[in-house]
Amino acid sequence: MMGSIYADAKYQDVPVEEKERLFQEVKADMRWHTTLYGCYECGICVASCPSARFYDFSPRVYAQVMAREDVHTFYELLNDSMWDCSQCFSCTRCPRQNNPGGIITIMREVAVKNGLQSAKTALQAYSRIIYKVMSTGTQVAPDMLQPDFFPDWGPDVVKVSENLDSWRRAIPPETLHTTELAWDVSEQTQLELYLIWKLSGNLDIIETLDEGIFMILSEVMEELLEEHGYDLDEVEVII
Ligand code: SF4
Ligand code: SF4
Repeated sequence: MMGSIYADAKYQDVPVEEKERLFQEVKADMRWHTTLYGCYECGICVASCPSARFYDFSPRVYAQVMAREDVHTFYELLNDSMWDCSQCFSCTRCPRQNNPGGIITIMREVAVKNGLQSAKTALQAYSRIIYKVMSTGTQVAPDMLQPDFFPDWGPDVVKVSENLDSWRRAIPPETLHTTELAWDVSEQTQLELYLIWKLSGNLDIIETLDEGIFMILSEVMEELLEEHGYDLDEVEVII
């Protein structure tokens, strides 16, 4: 185990055993062995990373810190900068086939499953999106691309919204043309979605993360499941 690369390491009050435990949970993931193959320090991942352009963030740091098993710096990344990754996987251009974005995917899952406060804070702003995805299986429809709807998407959304009719014609599935249609999901689809969220343990993860959304989702799901003869409390989680 290595010391932190930061001289002024944060989270010094967190016991090293806890940092080690979370690190081992990341390492135990079956995808771990496909993410790290040694680093040339070439910087190609950093050059291709959009988040590195706008934040104090570097995919190379993830490749190196995780390979060095530096649990102190890992813990800092886990609680701070990893939420700046946009999960675009441009960093897989790595000549060593490292996958920093993939490492971050696993780290995020571990942070969420362990109910870390940093994960709750980072995901708070997404509660509406989580609700929509879990209740309808979808979220964004082209007609939502309006400058005042998503101001944080930047100036390009203005250009997109000006040519929305062309964009709609370019996107084949008819149901994605408007929010009204995109969110109008058949009862059978909803039923299957709810069972997937329950059986895969995702509903339990949501409960750890945000009790408010969990309550709302459970209520919505329970009603439909009951209508179809399922009792949400009796459906067994299979993982
Ligand atoms: S997946 Fe994350 S780390 Fe990789 S290039 Fe995209 S933003 Fe950067
Ligand atoms: S592209 Fe790969 S080898 Fe180069 S710095 Fe990034 S992780 Fe290391």
